[in-house]
Amino acid sequence: MTAQIIDGNALSKQLRADVALRAAALYARGITPGLAVVLVGDSPASQVYVRNKIKACEDNGLHSVLEKYAATLSEADLLARVYALNNDPAIHGILVQLPLPAHIDAQKVIEAISPAKDVDGFHVASAGALMVGQPGFWPCTPYGCMKMLASIGYDLRGKHAVVIGRSNIVGKPMALMLLQKNATVTICHSATKDLKAMTLQADVIVAAVGKCNVLTADMVKPGAVVIDVGMNRNAEGKLCGDVDFDGVKEVAGYITPVPGGVGPMTITMLLINTLEAAERL
Ligand code: NAP
Repeated sequence: MTAQIIDGNALSKQLRADVALRAAALYARGITPGLAVVLVGDSPASQVYVRNKIKACEDNGLHSVLEKYAATLSEADLLARVYALNNDPAIHGILVQLPLPAHIDAQKVIEAISPAKDVDGFHVASAGALMVGQPGFWPCTPYGCMKMLASIGYDLRGKHAVVIGRSNIVGKPMALMLLQKNATVTICHSATKDLKAMTLQADVIVAAVGKCNVLTADMVKPGAVVIDVGMNRNAEGKLCGDVDFDGVKEVAGYITPVPGGVGPMTITMLLINTLEAAERL
């Protein structure tokens, strides 16, 4: 069996066509949806992520502002910038690129962002809203994974979903979103005793670990849906996910590739959250 590929680039293209329509409807109301991206330090990976987000805004009719600061920026000065953006009427979404330098308390900075502009969905108010099923901004990466499942018409009701990873930005919100769609959810992490025993029971597996080949073909039930969130470099420096793609695609029913899977969807959901922030005005 060879799995069907869930193509994140193709799905993003479809969803971004709708972004353009929604942006046009906002212009007609005199509103240009705007995203501010704040980058502290010069991490090459963060610079690439930030550049891609700004370009996606430009390509899809959203106003964007990139604020770049030296790694020596103080926490107080960063907080002051966030407060200024909270009060800037041209900005509907604020994203502070993580990780931040060690001398800055990232959680404190995230909590300083107005929940109304928290398009990354990392604020405790957004996390709480997801937890209790209230409207709020969903973190872009798991939100994108849910769109990928919806794109294949997958009904999660009564299915067993196994999420590998429990970070606040991917694993935990992913599990809550799957639960909201009536899946039975298992969350695995570094202390899970027998990961394979868990994944072999899964109808859906979401891997969000950050290590190559955490999920191999012998760990996957035939026909399962496999979503690979991982973005890693292998020993040769090549981009890879958490899933052994070549092996797992022979067993799974559906699989997302890396690159071209969850990555583009994350940026698309950021655009959608920013539009939503502007539409709520
Ligand atoms: P993270 O904060 O480092 O969390 C990793 C999780 O994996 C932790 O919960 C950890 O368990 C668990 N883990 C580590 N080793 C494990 C093992 N051997 N078996 C089972 N679980 C294990 O990472 P993250 O921020 O969630 O990101 C995960 C991956 O997704 C990374 O590769 C990241 O680059 C990628 N990512 C991609 C996108 C995208 O747009 N495509 C967006 C965000 C993240 P403990 O909690 O016990 O430590």
